Amino acid sequence: MTTLSGKTALVTGSTSGIGLGIAVSLAKAGANVVLNGFGDASKVIADVQQFGTRVGHHPADVSDPLQIAEMIAYAEREFGGVDILVNNAGIQHVAAVEDFPVERWDSIIAINLSSVFHSTRLCLPRMRAENWGRIINIASVHGQVGSVGKAAYVAAKHGVIGLTKVVGLETATTQVTCNAICPGWVLTPLVQKQIDDRAATGIDPQQAQHDLLAEKQPSLAFVTPPQLGELVLFLCSEAGSQVRGAAWNIDGGWLAQ
Ligand code: NAD
Repeated sequence: MTTLSGKTALVTGSTSGIGLGIAVSLAKAGANVVLNGFGDASKVIADVQQFGTRVGHHPADVSDPLQIAEMIAYAEREFGGVDILVNNAGIQHVAAVEDFPVERWDSIIAINLSSVFHSTRLCLPRMRAENWGRIINIASVHGQVGSVGKAAYVAAKHGVIGLTKVVGLETATTQVTCNAICPGWVLTPLVQKQIDDRAATGIDPQQAQHDLLAEKQPSLAFVTPPQLGELVLFLCSEAGSQVRGAAWNIDGGWLAQ
């Protein structure tokens, strides 16, 4: 197992779903973890603390650059700084372009894309000074292909992959790496809402879940947060140190079609 003892990881959007799974994997591997996200953090902190490393939580709304700066200052003050930055916070909204609410577009771009720029620019100076760091952006298959109704999400995730390439190049001669992970369907609250929306049209919920997978994901099985956590650990390992600027699919075959 990768030993991340002595390292501190900041995982945005880690009070739920994929971010929580990644936070657990990082703590299991020995990292101290700064959690972030909405909702009651006390149970989530307890879940991540069970592996004996230090765990904190900062409630920054990552749509606000000032709150991102406060979160990173908290990590520096309380944990000595961020060695592993996992940009995971994200939201979704489904509507045709001509009906897409302008404020939802702005929020998705702020949370899913601009926050990655802000946390990266604020964490990089220390990583460069330490000459070690990992920046891992949770993009999506929607960073590489489109789907109807997801204009803002697809635009933001394509942007994340572009930003990942640039940061990967700008750090290429250092021990800092920057990569994106592109999951297919993962059964989290973000996706459950899309299944519920289908079921609301009168389809049986099990059938709605099957249809969602069958349309895009050839394995007909969800990717899981622990599988994503293991991929994050690989990218943090010495074996992963020459993976740079990559967009790594973990998608049950979605992008092979
Ligand atoms: P989720 O809804 O389960 O969790 C989202 C997390 O982000 C929560 O902790 C929430 O509190 C936090 N969050 C939301 N807005 C925030 C804000 N403004 N500031 C701070 N935190 C905020 O979603 P998930 O499915 O776990 O998604 C996590 C990431 O994975 C997202 O970037 C999403 O785009 C990406 N992703 C998800 C899937 C999937 O199938 N679930 C597939 C590909 C990519």
